[in-house]
Amino acid sequence: MLDEALYLLKSHNYKVTKQRKSLLECLYNKCRHHYVDVVEIDAELRKLYPGMSHNTIYRNMREFAQIGIIEMKTKASGACVKYQCDFSNLHHHHFICRKCGLVKEVQMCPMTVFESQLPGCQIEEHRFELHGLCADCANKQTKNS
Ligand SMILES: [Zn+2]
Ligand SMILES: [Zn+2]
Ligand SMILES: [Zn+2]
Repeated sequence: MLDEALYLLKSHNYKVTKQRKSLLECLYNKCRHHYVDVVEIDAELRKLYPGMSHNTIYRNMREFAQIGIIEMKTKASGACVKYQCDFSNLHHHHFICRKCGLVKEVQMCPMTVFESQLPGCQIEEHRFELHGLCADCANKQTKNS
């Protein structure tokens, strides 16, 4: 289940240490479908490795994000992480349920549309996210009303 992540680590010359592997497992178990606050992951890891510093844990997560093992984003409350949705399609966008936080991958990138409106410009980054209610939450809402 962690094969793709381990492969990415190795191909970027990172050693697969016991701590890195535990961090991966923690991310896989806690945030495969939801963004989770990095503080929560940090606390979880330090339960397993009390001697591990916050710095090391955060650095590892940043490295994981750089090579595409996890997805990271900043909210007002701080950084959140999520296990990679799709290793074969690292660039993708999300639908996020505002009620339960469920994250669903969407395949289409809208950038091609904008590029044609901005001839000669070099677009360096973009964020695109869809928000609303997931099917489950939408269902519950109709039942309750
Ligand atoms: Zn994703
Ligand atoms: Zn939902
Ligand atoms: Zn895109």
